[in-house]
Amino acid sequence: MGTEVSVLLWHDDPVLGEQIVEQVFAEAERIDKLMSTYIEDSRISDINRRAASEPVVAGDELFLIIRRSLDISVLTLGAFDITYDSVGQHYDFRNHQRPDEATVEAERRHIDYRFVELDQAAGTVRFTEDGVRINLGGIAKGYVVERGVDILRMRGVHNAIVTAGGDSRLLGDRRGQPWMVGIRDPRNDGQVAISIPLEDEAISTSGDYERYFEEGDVRYHHIIQPNTGAPASGVHSATVFGPDAVITDALSTSVFVMGVDQGLRLIATLPDYESIVIDAAGRIFYSDGLQQPEAQSFDTPDP
Ligand code: ADP
Ligand code: MG
Repeated sequence: MGTEVSVLLWHDDPVLGEQIVEQVFAEAERIDKLMSTYIEDSRISDINRRAASEPVVAGDELFLIIRRSLDISVLTLGAFDITYDSVGQHYDFRNHQRPDEATVEAERRHIDYRFVELDQAAGTVRFTEDGVRINLGGIAKGYVVERGVDILRMRGVHNAIVTAGGDSRLLGDRRGQPWMVGIRDPRNDGQVAISIPLEDEAISTSGDYERYFEEGDVRYHHIIQPNTGAPASGVHSATVFGPDAVITDALSTSVFVMGVDQGLRLIATLPDYESIVIDAAGRIFYSDGLQQPEAQSFDTPDP
């Protein structure tokens, strides 16, 4: 998936600790081989090649992630949509390539999660239209993180961070103190806009500064507005935190697409999830659950 995976953990035995880290990396690679559209012989590439002509067996794991993706499409009214890839495939950020307008116009018609049909009993995926493609780039890293944390737990680790790209999961605390997680300043490389103390939580940030190139004053980046097929505008970064990294990953992408108002309204309906959004003017918005009480005046009389 073209992302760095990192693991930070405490373990009394350094050799065992190293082994556990390697196990997480091996798991990340296994998931990449299953879910990356950049690998020709991955299962998902097979689905993209064949699912418009016949139902294709996905395997339990991939089936489940696709199902969860479709559920999130319903929840976000289509802001999150793994079929964005019919347009998305034409971008090459490293080489500053983008689709021309005619290509966007033709391909965006194939973006609609309702074109993806799942057969639970048969465990198959089918596309109801030609030209549909799926890409799990907005959710698979969260899955890598969750699987990594499962491994750490199974191996008796209590304090750790697993990160894949913009998605992290904190296991326990930082040995007695909360982890301090920084949200990057979207326009100042290496600078932190906000730091938040977190324990035992997943946190994901989607930004327009990870994969992009500029032409004139237009920034072409990797998060696509499904309706238009163009990069979503209005937000510089969207952060979501909560109990599950698969969900925070998909929701950070969703909130980015939905924008400040609609995005935060969605988060307000999800009691376990909170969000911090930085808009295109650099203003910072917090979901309701985070709202700091206004500077209160305590008129308590002296005792
Ligand atoms: P990052 O890759 O920086 O962690 P995200 O989690 O937001 O950021 O994922 C962005 C990726 O999600 C894109 O690279 C692309 O693969 C995928 N994507 C882009 N637009 C959408 C969308 N509207 N719905 C679902 N996935 C998307
Ligand atoms: Mg995401």
